Amino acid sequence: MSLLSISHLSSGYAGGFTIRDVCLEVKPGTVVGIIGPNGSGKSTLLSTVMGDLSPMSGSISLGEKDLKQLSRRERACAISVVSQMIDPIAITLRDYVAMGRLPHHPPLYYFESSADQEVVERSIRLVGLESLADRYMTELSGGEQQMGAIAQALCVEPRLLLLDEATAHLDITHTVRVLSLVRSLAQNKVRPLTIIAVLHDLTMASEYCDYLVLMRKGQVYAQGSPEEVLTEEHIGEVYRMPVSITPHPISGRPMVLPRMA
Ligand code: ADP
Ligand code: MG
Repeated sequence: MSLLSISHLSSGYAGGFTIRDVCLEVKPGTVVGIIGPNGSGKSTLLSTVMGDLSPMSGSISLGEKDLKQLSRRERACAISVVSQMIDPIAITLRDYVAMGRLPHHPPLYYFESSADQEVVERSIRLVGLESLADRYMTELSGGEQQMGAIAQALCVEPRLLLLDEATAHLDITHTVRVLSLVRSLAQNKVRPLTIIAVLHDLTMASEYCDYLVLMRKGQVYAQGSPEEVLTEEHIGEVYRMPVSITPHPISGRPMVLPRMA
């Protein structure tokens, strides 16, 4: 049974860009990578899954329910999103992370329970930000703010986590930390998290994702395992750039290297 089922989805902006006929089945505990050139519709797809854009046709279901059947609050408890742009506010990182608990409480009746506090502290620990918990978000680096946003999204305890270029401001150590973390959360036997991550680094996508969706001009050009999707023909055609693909010396997963002129 899929956690997320997208069937013949079209969505986009009235009179403008649309994604068309997107079909995707995501099993619980899977890390899905969305790849494709700038402007190919990756964020439009995630915004539609998040419910910020309504499908023009086709459907999206989460578990057994069509997304349209879920209330705003149910959706906010089930799906959390981290985007590339973070708008830092002048509150401590701990309070910022705690905002992830808001959808679990009725509006205006938010009293942080000890159970909430435990989730907040655990989320901060998972991303390794314990030493910065009392600092103001506005006093953190872009990368630290981004890790804070990831902690807030984990604090929601969602079933589905959407990462839209959420590692864009991170150095290689923090990128690996985040991707290893999401992979280990996906592998949790009791409560597996399911992740859909827009990634630009094709080798990272190959290494950390179970399944890849390659988008081109609003449509799915190819989907499948990293080996099936990351071929020299697919990447050369979609990115209009010659690449060499070679197995990673340790993992054996495909590595994508631009072919230098
Ligand atoms: P990607 O995330 O793959 O880079 P997007 O899904 O953000 O691409 O954008 C796809 C296309 O939709 C782009 O051509 C972009 O200009 C257009 N677009 C994005 N957001 C809007 C919007 N709010 N209104 C109209 N067009 C938009
Ligand atoms: Mg985008």
